[in-house]
Amino acid sequence: MPSTVNMRIPGAASSLVTPTTGKRVLLAEPRGYCAGVDRAVETVERALEKHGPPVYVRHEIVHNRHVVDTLAKAGAVFVDETDEVPEGAIVVFSAHGVAPTVHASAAERSLRVVDAACPLVTKVHNEAKRFARDDYDILLIGHEGHEEVVGTAGEAPDHVQLVDGPGAVDAVTVRDENKVVWLSQTTLSVDETMQTVQRLRARFPKLQDPPSDDICYATQNRQVAVKAMAPECELVIVVGSRNSSNSVRLVEVALGAGSAAAHLVDHAGDIDPAWLDGVITIGVTSGASVPEVLVRGVLERLAEYGYDVVQPVTTANETLVFALPREIRPTRSRA
Ligand code: SF4
Repeated sequence: MPSTVNMRIPGAASSLVTPTTGKRVLLAEPRGYCAGVDRAVETVERALEKHGPPVYVRHEIVHNRHVVDTLAKAGAVFVDETDEVPEGAIVVFSAHGVAPTVHASAAERSLRVVDAACPLVTKVHNEAKRFARDDYDILLIGHEGHEEVVGTAGEAPDHVQLVDGPGAVDAVTVRDENKVVWLSQTTLSVDETMQTVQRLRARFPKLQDPPSDDICYATQNRQVAVKAMAPECELVIVVGSRNSSNSVRLVEVALGAGSAAAHLVDHAGDIDPAWLDGVITIGVTSGASVPEVLVRGVLERLAEYGYDVVQPVTTANETLVFALPREIRPTRSRA
């Protein structure tokens, strides 16, 4: 276990301490923003700086209420569909990616598109296009109705079948058992996805794997960190919004890895003091779309309840950064 540290949480003792109550927080590392979310949020900020408000954004740029509200205050206008955007205006597409039909309808309205789709989602789109070109049946493991899945399936609607978890495997039918591949949403539970794949492979032994992991590095890293700390926790608090797939998965992973309880909170105000009854060790983490300020708020609230010692649990160091979309990159001045 890493050494005990004071994270400068108000209410915490002023130096390294040995807890007298034993109450402590284990803080997962990595947590919070991934490279794709960072890029998407900065894309909207830069678009606002460069063009001034309003900048239209199709769907929530990332699945986090705080982020969306902050950008809306700065002049972003969130819409459900491109036909709500005035002709010729700027529209940013969210990190979850969109189907080609959405690009087509934006082009019809002469919208100036900045696509903030995460490059790791775009990678899955490209895989879908490639396997469809080779006339494969593509079994896309993911959650029905999730924006990312809608976008990926839209690349090859005649070839993609959605498989929403292990329970959906029996209903799958394919044209040729020798030409079947599975792909997945980027933000799934690794363990549950592998169960689904095992069941699919039991039915279709020649099932091909994706060329590389579709569940992204950030989703995997956050789940590994939660698995490392959960067995020592009576409670895990995951900071994230209900519509954030990777955040919801972290709650499930925490419970599966041995935490007695796990709850999703949008912010510190969602913490129910009753959850803390008899609890000594609380794990804290956050989904890939959650700004660190919300985690700080949770740590401050927990410190008020006596959980004033914070111990990081580090399982990976993340350094990945994605370049901004071309349309929004700063132009280089000529020497
Ligand atoms: S969670 Fe993964 S796929 Fe989604 S935006 Fe972040 S890095 Fe990209």
